[in-house]
Amino acid sequence: MHWEFYQQQVIRGVERKAAEGTREAARLERDLTTVSVELRSAIDKIVLVNRALWELLSERHGLEEADLDKKIEEIDLRDGVADGRMGTSEATCAGCGRKARGERANCLYCGHALDR
Ligand SMILES: [Zn+2]
Repeated sequence: MHWEFYQQQVIRGVERKAAEGTREAARLERDLTTVSVELRSAIDKIVLVNRALWELLSERHGLEEADLDKKIEEIDLRDGVADGRMGTSEATCAGCGRKARGERANCLYCGHALDR
């Protein structure tokens, strides 16, 4: 009798945890959707501003697409890698062990100075 009661308690506990996990997964999915929409909006804004800047430069100073391509290639290669991105260098923080990308001097997570 006691054993059955114990088993029922264990089952209820597992069911509670499963329900909590399901709710947490749903909450995380909503958060991810919100972040995704915000990122899309930020990217759209950056693309728009870049387009406006490029058209101003090209109209007022006679620059052409080839000039832009050349500058993009030059900036891309500043980190030594032609990958279509800026600052792809990666360092492992000696303070917390996390990976740090980009050109930061200090770890984003713990502030430890990064050795690049
Ligand atoms: Zn760190």
